[in-house]
Amino acid sequence: MNEKNTILLYPECDQIGKVEYIDHMGDDAAIVDAARASLGLENRGMNEKDIKLINYLMENRHTSPFEQCEVKFRFVVPLFVARQHMRHRTFSFNELSRRYTAEDIKFFEPKEFRTQHKSNLQASNQQELINPVIGYVPYSSKSENMGWRPVEYKFSDLLSCYTTEALKLYNLALDNGICREQARMILPQNMYTTYIGKCNLHNLFHFLNLRTTEHVQLEMRKVAFAIQRFIEQLFPVATMTWAYWKNINAKTKKVFELLGKDEKRLNQMINTLETENINENIS
Ligand SMILES: Cc1cc2nc3c(=O)[nH]c(=O)nc-3n(C[C@H](O)[C@H](O)[C@H](O)COP(=O)(O)OP(=O)(O)OC[C@H]3O[C@@H](n4cnc5c(N)ncnc54)[C@H](O)[C@@H]3O)c2cc1C
Repeated sequence: MNEKNTILLYPECDQIGKVEYIDHMGDDAAIVDAARASLGLENRGMNEKDIKLINYLMENRHTSPFEQCEVKFRFVVPLFVARQHMRHRTFSFNELSRRYTAEDIKFFEPKEFRTQHKSNLQASNQQELINPVIGYVPYSSKSENMGWRPVEYKFSDLLSCYTTEALKLYNLALDNGICREQARMILPQNMYTTYIGKCNLHNLFHFLNLRTTEHVQLEMRKVAFAIQRFIEQLFPVATMTWAYWKNINAKTKKVFELLGKDEKRLNQMINTLETENINENIS
Protein backbone atom coordinates (compact mmCIF):
# COMPACT_ATOMS: atom_id res chain seq x y z
CA MET A 1 0.00 0.00 0.00
CA ASN A 2 1.33 3.42 -0.93
CA GLU A 3 -1.01 5.53 1.15
CA LYS A 4 -1.57 5.29 4.89
CA ASN A 5 -3.40 2.20 6.12
CA THR A 6 -6.21 3.96 7.94
CA ILE A 7 -9.00 6.21 6.67
CA LEU A 8 -10.93 8.19 9.26
CA LEU A 9 -14.65 8.11 8.50
CA TYR A 10 -16.03 11.03 10.46
CA PRO A 11 -13.07 13.39 11.04
CA GLU A 12 -15.39 16.39 11.45
CA CYS A 13 -16.78 14.62 14.50
CA ASP A 14 -14.08 12.37 16.03
CA GLN A 15 -10.90 10.39 15.39
CA ILE A 16 -12.56 7.06 16.24
CA GLY A 17 -14.63 5.88 13.25
CA LYS A 18 -12.28 4.30 10.72
CA VAL A 19 -11.56 1.68 8.11
CA GLU A 20 -8.12 0.15 8.44
CA TYR A 21 -6.48 -1.98 5.78
CA ILE A 22 -5.09 -5.19 7.30
CA ASP A 23 -4.12 -7.54 4.50
CA HIS A 24 -4.85 -8.60 0.94
CA MET A 25 -4.25 -11.40 -1.52
CA GLY A 26 -3.68 -10.96 -5.26
CA ASP A 27 -3.36 -7.99 -7.60
CA ASP A 28 -4.46 -7.04 -11.14
CA ALA A 29 -2.02 -9.62 -12.57
CA ALA A 30 -3.65 -12.37 -10.46
CA ILE A 31 -7.00 -11.58 -12.14
CA VAL A 32 -5.37 -11.94 -15.57
CA ASP A 33 -3.70 -15.19 -14.48
CA ALA A 34 -7.02 -16.58 -13.27
CA ALA A 35 -8.72 -15.67 -16.55
CA ARG A 36 -5.99 -17.42 -18.53
CA ALA A 37 -5.89 -20.49 -16.26
CA SER A 38 -8.29 -22.24 -18.64
CA LEU A 39 -5.59 -21.95 -21.31
CA GLY A 40 -2.82 -23.16 -18.99
CA LEU A 41 -1.09 -19.80 -19.42
CA GLU A 42 0.53 -17.70 -16.76
CA ASN A 43 2.21 -14.32 -16.78
CA ARG A 44 3.01 -11.82 -14.03
CA GLY A 45 3.30 -8.54 -15.88
CA MET A 46 0.59 -6.08 -16.80
CA ASN A 47 0.63 -4.94 -20.39
CA GLU A 48 -1.98 -3.28 -22.56
CA LYS A 49 -3.45 -6.62 -23.56
CA ASP A 50 -3.90 -7.54 -19.89
CA ILE A 51 -5.66 -4.27 -19.18
CA LYS A 52 -8.03 -4.93 -22.09
CA LEU A 53 -8.65 -8.43 -20.80
CA ILE A 54 -9.67 -7.15 -17.36
CA ASN A 55 -11.95 -4.64 -19.06
CA TYR A 56 -13.46 -7.47 -21.13
CA LEU A 57 -14.05 -9.59 -18.02
CA MET A 58 -15.75 -6.69 -16.25
CA GLU A 59 -17.89 -5.72 -19.25
CA ASN A 60 -19.08 -9.28 -19.84
CA ARG A 61 -19.44 -10.18 -16.17
CA HIS A 62 -16.93 -13.01 -16.22
CA THR A 63 -16.71 -12.57 -12.50
CA SER A 64 -14.80 -15.57 -11.12
CA PRO A 65 -11.25 -14.25 -11.84
CA PHE A 66 -12.00 -11.31 -9.52
CA GLU A 67 -12.81 -13.81 -6.76
CA GLN A 68 -9.14 -14.85 -6.72
CA CYS A 69 -8.33 -11.55 -4.94
CA GLU A 70 -9.27 -10.78 -1.35
CA VAL A 71 -8.95 -7.89 1.09
CA LYS A 72 -9.22 -7.76 4.88
CA PHE A 73 -10.10 -4.61 6.84
CA ARG A 74 -10.72 -3.55 10.43
CA PHE A 75 -13.84 -1.42 10.84
CA VAL A 76 -14.66 0.87 13.76
CA VAL A 77 -18.19 2.16 13.20
CA PRO A 78 -21.36 2.92 15.21
CA LEU A 79 -23.69 -0.04 15.77
CA PHE A 80 -26.29 1.28 13.31
CA VAL A 81 -23.66 1.28 10.53
CA ALA A 82 -22.33 -2.18 11.44
CA ARG A 83 -25.88 -3.49 11.26
CA GLN A 84 -26.21 -2.31 7.65
CA HIS A 85 -22.74 -3.56 6.73
CA MET A 86 -23.38 -7.03 8.12
CA ARG A 87 -26.32 -7.54 5.76
CA HIS A 88 -23.62 -8.23 3.15
CA ARG A 89 -23.30 -11.98 3.57
CA THR A 90 -20.32 -12.36 1.28
CA PHE A 91 -18.07 -10.65 3.85
CA SER A 92 -16.57 -12.87 6.58
CA PHE A 93 -16.85 -10.94 9.85
CA ASN A 94 -15.46 -11.28 13.38
CA GLU A 95 -16.61 -8.69 15.93
CA LEU A 96 -15.55 -7.59 19.40
CA SER A 97 -18.06 -9.02 21.88
CA ARG A 98 -19.59 -7.04 24.72
CA ARG A 99 -20.19 -10.42 26.41
CA TYR A 100 -16.43 -10.60 26.97
CA THR A 101 -15.40 -7.03 27.65
CA ALA A 102 -16.80 -3.85 29.16
CA GLU A 103 -13.66 -1.84 28.33
CA ASP A 104 -13.13 1.06 25.97
CA ILE A 105 -16.74 2.02 25.22
CA LYS A 106 -16.96 5.03 22.89
CA PHE A 107 -19.82 6.82 21.18
CA PHE A 108 -20.43 8.53 17.85
CA GLU A 109 -21.64 12.02 18.77
CA PRO A 110 -22.09 14.32 15.77
CA LYS A 111 -22.48 18.03 16.41
CA GLU A 112 -24.77 18.61 13.40
CA PHE A 113 -27.65 16.57 12.01
CA ARG A 114 -29.22 16.18 8.57
CA THR A 115 -32.92 16.96 8.20
CA GLN A 116 -35.41 14.33 6.96
CA HIS A 117 -36.09 14.32 3.19
CA LYS A 118 -39.70 15.32 2.50
CA SER A 119 -40.63 12.83 -0.24
CA ASN A 120 -38.01 10.06 -0.07
CA LEU A 121 -38.63 7.94 3.03
CA GLN A 122 -35.06 6.63 3.26
CA ALA A 123 -33.23 9.88 2.49
CA SER A 124 -31.92 12.83 4.46
CA ASN A 125 -30.85 16.30 3.30
CA GLN A 126 -27.08 16.37 3.27
CA GLN A 127 -26.98 20.10 2.61
CA GLU A 128 -29.35 21.00 5.42
CA LEU A 129 -27.52 20.59 8.73
CA ILE A 130 -29.13 21.54 12.01
CA ASN A 131 -28.51 21.37 15.75
CA PRO A 132 -31.86 22.49 17.14
CA VAL A 133 -32.31 23.91 20.61
CA ILE A 134 -34.97 21.82 22.33
CA GLY A 135 -37.01 22.37 25.47
CA TYR A 136 -36.46 19.15 27.41
CA VAL A 137 -37.50 17.77 30.78
CA PRO A 138 -34.94 15.18 31.86
CA TYR A 139 -35.74 11.69 33.09
CA SER A 140 -39.51 11.10 32.87
CA SER A 141 -42.96 12.49 32.23
CA LYS A 142 -43.50 12.32 36.00
CA SER A 143 -41.19 15.28 36.41
CA GLU A 144 -43.47 17.30 34.09
CA ASN A 145 -46.41 16.39 36.32
CA MET A 146 -44.36 17.67 39.22
CA GLY A 147 -44.28 21.04 37.52
CA TRP A 148 -40.70 20.85 36.21
CA ARG A 149 -40.20 23.30 33.41
CA PRO A 150 -38.39 22.19 30.25
CA VAL A 151 -34.83 23.45 30.02
CA GLU A 152 -33.43 24.39 26.61
CA TYR A 153 -30.55 22.33 25.30
CA LYS A 154 -28.83 21.94 21.95
CA PHE A 155 -29.68 18.51 20.56
CA SER A 156 -25.96 17.58 20.39
CA ASP A 157 -25.66 18.26 24.16
CA LEU A 158 -28.76 16.15 24.84
CA LEU A 159 -27.26 13.29 22.84
CA SER A 160 -24.05 13.58 24.79
CA CYS A 161 -25.95 13.56 28.13
CA TYR A 162 -28.00 10.60 26.98
CA THR A 163 -24.98 8.46 26.08
CA THR A 164 -23.17 9.45 29.30
CA GLU A 165 -26.21 8.44 31.35
CA ALA A 166 -26.51 5.16 29.43
CA LEU A 167 -22.86 4.37 30.15
CA LYS A 168 -23.35 5.30 33.81
CA LEU A 169 -26.33 2.94 34.11
CA TYR A 170 -24.38 0.19 32.28
CA ASN A 171 -21.47 0.51 34.74
CA LEU A 172 -23.90 0.57 37.68
CA ALA A 173 -25.46 -2.66 36.41
CA LEU A 174 -22.04 -4.33 36.21
CA ASP A 175 -20.96 -2.97 39.61
CA ASN A 176 -24.10 -4.48 41.09
CA GLY A 177 -23.50 -7.94 39.74
CA ILE A 178 -25.57 -7.93 36.52
CA CYS A 179 -23.85 -9.87 33.74
CA ARG A 180 -22.25 -8.11 30.74
CA GLU A 181 -24.46 -9.93 28.23
CA GLN A 182 -27.61 -8.39 29.74
CA ALA A 183 -26.18 -5.05 30.86
CA ARG A 184 -25.18 -4.26 27.27
CA MET A 185 -28.84 -3.86 26.28
CA ILE A 186 -28.63 -0.37 27.82
CA LEU A 187 -25.93 0.81 25.41
CA PRO A 188 -27.31 2.92 22.56
CA GLN A 189 -27.01 2.50 18.77
CA ASN A 190 -24.37 5.23 18.51
CA MET A 191 -21.89 3.08 20.43
CA TYR A 192 -18.82 2.23 18.36
CA THR A 193 -18.13 -1.41 17.61
CA THR A 194 -15.00 -2.99 16.13
CA TYR A 195 -14.81 -5.90 13.73
CA ILE A 196 -12.66 -7.35 11.00
CA GLY A 197 -14.17 -8.18 7.62
CA LYS A 198 -12.71 -10.05 4.67
CA CYS A 199 -14.24 -10.16 1.20
CA ASN A 200 -13.21 -11.15 -2.30
CA LEU A 201 -12.94 -8.51 -5.01
CA HIS A 202 -15.98 -9.62 -7.01
CA ASN A 203 -18.20 -9.34 -3.94
CA LEU A 204 -16.54 -6.06 -2.93
CA PHE A 205 -17.57 -4.58 -6.29
CA HIS A 206 -21.13 -5.78 -5.67
CA PHE A 207 -20.99 -4.18 -2.21
CA LEU A 208 -19.70 -0.91 -3.70
CA ASN A 209 -22.44 -0.94 -6.35
CA LEU A 210 -25.00 -1.07 -3.57
CA ARG A 211 -23.40 1.15 -0.96
CA THR A 212 -21.83 4.05 -2.88
CA THR A 213 -25.12 5.42 -4.21
CA GLU A 214 -27.01 8.43 -2.87
CA HIS A 215 -29.73 6.07 -1.57
CA VAL A 216 -27.35 4.92 1.15
CA GLN A 217 -27.10 6.53 4.57
CA LEU A 218 -24.10 8.87 4.59
CA GLU A 219 -22.33 7.20 7.54
CA MET A 220 -22.49 3.85 5.68
CA ARG A 221 -21.56 5.38 2.30
CA LYS A 222 -18.37 6.72 3.86
CA VAL A 223 -17.39 3.14 4.75
CA ALA A 224 -17.92 2.12 1.12
CA PHE A 225 -15.88 5.08 -0.19
CA ALA A 226 -13.03 4.22 2.19
CA ILE A 227 -13.02 0.64 0.87
CA GLN A 228 -13.06 1.98 -2.68
CA ARG A 229 -10.01 4.16 -1.97
CA PHE A 230 -8.08 1.15 -0.67
CA ILE A 231 -8.93 -1.13 -3.57
CA GLU A 232 -8.07 1.62 -6.07
CA GLN A 233 -4.51 1.29 -4.77
CA LEU A 234 -4.46 -2.51 -4.56
CA PHE A 235 -6.22 -3.33 -7.86
CA PRO A 236 -6.03 -0.11 -9.94
CA VAL A 237 -7.01 -1.61 -13.30
CA ALA A 238 -9.87 -3.74 -11.99
CA THR A 239 -11.25 -0.85 -9.94
CA MET A 240 -10.97 1.54 -12.87
CA THR A 241 -12.89 -0.84 -15.17
CA TRP A 242 -15.50 -1.46 -12.47
CA ALA A 243 -16.04 2.31 -12.11
CA TYR A 244 -16.23 2.70 -15.90
CA TRP A 245 -18.87 -0.02 -16.42
CA LYS A 246 -20.83 1.04 -13.36
CA ASN A 247 -21.09 4.46 -14.91
CA ILE A 248 -22.05 3.12 -18.35
CA ASN A 249 -24.69 0.83 -16.83
CA ALA A 250 -26.12 3.73 -14.86
CA LYS A 251 -26.26 5.82 -18.03
CA THR A 252 -27.94 2.99 -20.00
CA LYS A 253 -30.49 2.62 -17.24
CA LYS A 254 -31.17 6.34 -17.39
CA VAL A 255 -31.58 6.22 -21.18
CA PHE A 256 -33.98 3.29 -20.73
CA GLU A 257 -36.03 5.31 -18.27
CA LEU A 258 -36.01 8.35 -20.55
CA LEU A 259 -37.19 6.26 -23.50
CA GLY A 260 -40.18 5.17 -21.45
CA LYS A 261 -39.01 1.53 -21.46
CA ASP A 262 -39.31 1.37 -25.24
CA GLU A 263 -37.01 -1.64 -25.72
CA LYS A 264 -37.02 -1.44 -29.52
CA ARG A 265 -35.74 2.11 -29.52
CA LEU A 266 -33.23 1.25 -26.81
CA ASN A 267 -31.83 -1.67 -28.84
CA GLN A 268 -31.51 0.58 -31.88
CA MET A 269 -29.52 3.02 -29.79
CA ILE A 270 -27.25 0.33 -28.32
CA ASN A 271 -26.57 -1.12 -31.78
CA THR A 272 -25.36 2.22 -32.98
CA LEU A 273 -22.84 2.48 -30.15
CA GLU A 274 -19.32 1.54 -31.21
CA THR A 275 -18.20 -1.58 -29.36
CA GLU A 276 -14.71 -2.94 -29.56
CA ASN A 277 -14.50 -6.69 -29.88
CA ILE A 278 -11.68 -7.65 -27.58
CA ASN A 279 -12.31 -11.39 -27.55
CA GLU A 280 -8.97 -11.85 -29.28
CA ASN A 281 -7.19 -10.45 -26.22
CA ILE A 282 -8.12 -13.40 -24.07
CA SER A 283 -5.49 -15.71 -25.51
C1 LIG B 1 -30.04 1.52 -0.08
C2 LIG B 1 -30.35 0.25 0.63
C3 LIG B 1 -31.47 0.16 1.42
C4 LIG B 1 -31.78 -1.03 2.10
N1 LIG B 1 -32.89 -1.09 2.89
C5 LIG B 1 -33.20 -2.23 3.54
C6 LIG B 1 -34.36 -2.31 4.37
O1 LIG B 1 -35.11 -1.37 4.51
N2 LIG B 1 -34.59 -3.48 5.03
C7 LIG B 1 -33.78 -4.57 4.88
O2 LIG B 1 -34.05 -5.60 5.49
N3 LIG B 1 -32.68 -4.52 4.11
C8 LIG B 1 -32.36 -3.38 3.43
N4 LIG B 1 -31.23 -3.33 2.66
C9 LIG B 1 -30.34 -4.51 2.62
C10 LIG B 1 -30.53 -5.27 1.30
O3 LIG B 1 -31.83 -5.83 1.20
C11 LIG B 1 -29.48 -6.40 1.19
O4 LIG B 1 -29.64 -7.29 2.27
C12 LIG B 1 -28.06 -5.88 1.26
O5 LIG B 1 -27.89 -4.78 0.40
C13 LIG B 1 -27.11 -7.00 0.85
O6 LIG B 1 -27.25 -7.21 -0.53
P1 LIG B 1 -26.98 -8.62 -1.20
O7 LIG B 1 -27.87 -9.67 -0.60
O8 LIG B 1 -27.04 -8.45 -2.67
O9 LIG B 1 -25.44 -8.85 -0.77
P2 LIG B 1 -24.73 -10.12 -0.16
O10 LIG B 1 -25.40 -10.56 1.09
O11 LIG B 1 -23.27 -9.75 -0.08
O12 LIG B 1 -24.92 -11.24 -1.24
C14 LIG B 1 -24.34 -11.11 -2.52
C15 LIG B 1 -25.15 -11.90 -3.51
O13 LIG B 1 -25.07 -13.28 -3.16
C16 LIG B 1 -26.31 -13.90 -3.38
N5 LIG B 1 -26.78 -14.43 -2.09
C17 LIG B 1 -26.16 -14.34 -0.89
N6 LIG B 1 -26.85 -15.00 0.04
C18 LIG B 1 -27.94 -15.49 -0.56
C19 LIG B 1 -29.05 -16.25 -0.12
N7 LIG B 1 -29.18 -16.64 1.14
N8 LIG B 1 -29.98 -16.60 -1.04
C20 LIG B 1 -29.89 -16.20 -2.32
N9 LIG B 1 -28.87 -15.48 -2.82
C21 LIG B 1 -27.91 -15.12 -1.94
C22 LIG B 1 -27.25 -12.86 -3.96
O14 LIG B 1 -27.16 -12.93 -5.36
C23 LIG B 1 -26.63 -11.56 -3.50
O15 LIG B 1 -26.95 -10.46 -4.33
C24 LIG B 1 -30.91 -2.16 1.98
C25 LIG B 1 -29.78 -2.07 1.17
C26 LIG B 1 -29.49 -0.89 0.50
C27 LIG B 1 -28.25 -0.81 -0.36
